[in-house]
Order: sequence, then C-alpha cells, then structure tokens
Amino acid sequence: MTTRRERIRAKIMARVRIDENTGCWLWTGPTSGTEGRGAGYPRMSLDGQTVAVHIAMWTNEHGYIPGKKELDHVCRNRLCVRYDPDHLELVTRKRNALRREEAKRLRCVEVV
Ligand SMILES: [Zn+2]
Repeated sequence: MTTRRERIRAKIMARVRIDENTGCWLWTGPTSGTEGRGAGYPRMSLDGQTVAVHIAMWTNEHGYIPGKKELDHVCRNRLCVRYDPDHLELVTRKRNALRREEAKRLRCVEVV
C-alpha cells in the first residue's frame, strides 16, 4: 500500500534529473515560463491544481509553510526540488529578498 506522501514523492522523482556535480534534483517537467520575476520555477498538476513543485516536494516531506516564511533555493537553482537544507531552506520573506540581492551582486563580481 502506498501513502499519499509516497505517491507525491514518486510522481515528482519520476521527472527529476540528479545533477552529480551540485547534488541538485532538477525538475525536467513544465515550468512557470521564461518571463518575469516568478519565471523558471517548476510546475506540475497535483490533484487538479497547478502547484510549484519545489514547494509541493518540501511540504510533502516537512509539512506546511507558515504564512510569513518562504522557501529559498540555497543552491540558487530554481529548478531544484531537493528538500534538504543545503538546497531548499525555509526563511523569512525579508531574508529571502536580502539573499537574492546578495546573489545578484556576487554574479556581477563573477562577470568582472
Ligand atoms: Zn539544489
């Protein structure tokens, strides 16, 4: 007998490619598109609803996300759905925004 939790995990993992260099679990299914700030996140249909896969995966393993918190991709890979703290971490909205700015600055430095 499989539980709902196992079913969701299996459904997600069936469309994941594991990146051996970073350890990321990269979603190979549909995404939220290529335009705008919310673009490039993994999407899937679950029980008739469209959900963000990394959020579905995380809550499936750890439980619901409180209203003031959101998931941050520590690995900076939007398609990653790995629910370990090295990849997805629950942070406050404010901290997430700060990290985003920091990552942007670091990318600029790399280019120079
Ligand atoms: Zn990752």
